[in-house]
Amino acid sequence: MTWRSGSYTGWGRALVADGPMARPERLSALHKVAGQAPAIGNRRSYADACLNDDGSVIDMTRLDRIIDFDPNAGTVTVEAGVTLGDLTTLLAPRGWMPAVLPGTGHATVGGAIAMDVHGKNHVSVGSFGQQVRSLTVLRNGQSEVETAGSDEFRASVGGLGQTGIITQATLSLAPCPGTGVRVRERRMDSFDEHIAQLEASTSPFVVGWIDATATGDATGRGIMEEAELVDRTPPPDKKAKSVPFDAPHAALSGPVVRAFNAAYLRRVPAMGRTRIRSIDDFFFPLDRIANWNRLYGKRGFHQFQCVVPTAEADALKDMLEFIGTSGLASPLVVLKKLGEGRGGMMSFPMEGYTLAVDFPARAKAADVIKRLNQMTADVGGRVYLAKDAFLEPDQVASMYPDHAAWAKIAAKSDPEGALMTALVRRLKLREVA
Ligand SMILES: Cc1cc2nc3c(=O)[nH]c(=O)nc-3n(C[C@H](O)[C@H](O)[C@H](O)COP(=O)(O)OP(=O)(O)OC[C@H]3O[C@@H](n4cnc5c(N)ncnc54)[C@H](O)[C@@H]3O)c2cc1C
Repeated sequence: MTWRSGSYTGWGRALVADGPMARPERLSALHKVAGQAPAIGNRRSYADACLNDDGSVIDMTRLDRIIDFDPNAGTVTVEAGVTLGDLTTLLAPRGWMPAVLPGTGHATVGGAIAMDVHGKNHVSVGSFGQQVRSLTVLRNGQSEVETAGSDEFRASVGGLGQTGIITQATLSLAPCPGTGVRVRERRMDSFDEHIAQLEASTSPFVVGWIDATATGDATGRGIMEEAELVDRTPPPDKKAKSVPFDAPHAALSGPVVRAFNAAYLRRVPAMGRTRIRSIDDFFFPLDRIANWNRLYGKRGFHQFQCVVPTAEADALKDMLEFIGTSGLASPLVVLKKLGEGRGGMMSFPMEGYTLAVDFPARAKAADVIKRLNQMTADVGGRVYLAKDAFLEPDQVASMYPDHAAWAKIAAKSDPEGALMTALVRRLKLREVA
């Protein structure tokens, strides 16, 4: 197995690691390097969850075979490197799809399990890990099968790759009537209206886009999308585009973002509109623009994502007021309601509302995000480790109450600490208080 050295980043490109990377194509090759380094997927986490600047990493993306598909039971068994986009493309015409999809189809099954990702239907179906029936985890030279419900399974789901390398998983699928999605879009004039409509919605898939440059009475205005899968043929997707080089600093300056957001809001008529879109277009809207992360320029960007309990929704309004006056807001701001479902001890979801905001990696961004992290902690909320670059170690224990139990299982699974990533070291996640 060859190790290739070089620099690599997560999706935000603001943090960079240097070191050797192995990319095994067969399980036999994986066995030769397992135990030496953490596994990574397609590096769609934003900051240092998929980096190991003190050592090496094992890229799992070539271990992407479909091992078994049972259309009667609605289950699929896959290698961990298969992407959710490829799985969806393969299964949807056959009447099934992954029951939970994050906002990018480039996430691998291994990465989706290790972060216990959530989708636009979290309220009704829970997290990705809750759709996993069993996992095969490679640790200490042995492949072990973990089944849903066991402590080991709950440590691996959302477990940041610290209990071993996930090589294979069996997933329960959701029925999919066709390749179309009926999407109803409505303008929301304020944060309060946005929250009220998220609460009232009975649609299976719901997501809000927010104009984070708006302040005062308009804080939290945006567009709410409610959707359901339908047996309708969508119009062909627009041609995929690509951002071929790093955009200059001015591309996402305050005035540009304000103008873009105002135009984006006006796309939806005052009375709202309903359209049939393709599965890819609805679930993975940003994937149509390859390398869109270059829009933030060479220095990259950070994403802040938190969830706050339902009763503390107003904390998000305070955050949006603060962001609106920071001069750093980007067009990518998403609001979703989450249910209580979570598959693992370190899973992000809690019942409440989640807000995700991208910030260009300028000097001021660190202070803005640290303040947002503290506002989250103050109301008993949680920051998502797939996105985080600025949490402090002592903030983790209160946000992730099962942390100590998880850390004990991780220590047993990986006594030498060979699976630690930069995130795990930065937040001292493997130290039990
Ligand atoms: C545009 C965009 C939209 C997104 N939308 C959402 C969303 O809606 N909801 C959401 O929850 N997340 C979302 N994300 C985050 C993304 O889904 C997660 O970060 C996911 O973990 C990325 O998967 P990956 O394969 O790229 O994993 P990586 O980023 O490479 O790794 C993530 C973690 O998984 C571990 N890991 C990866 N593979 C394995 C394996 N085989 N065995 C053990 N550990 C492994 C790594 O060590 C690391 O800790 C989004 C990301 C982007 C870029």
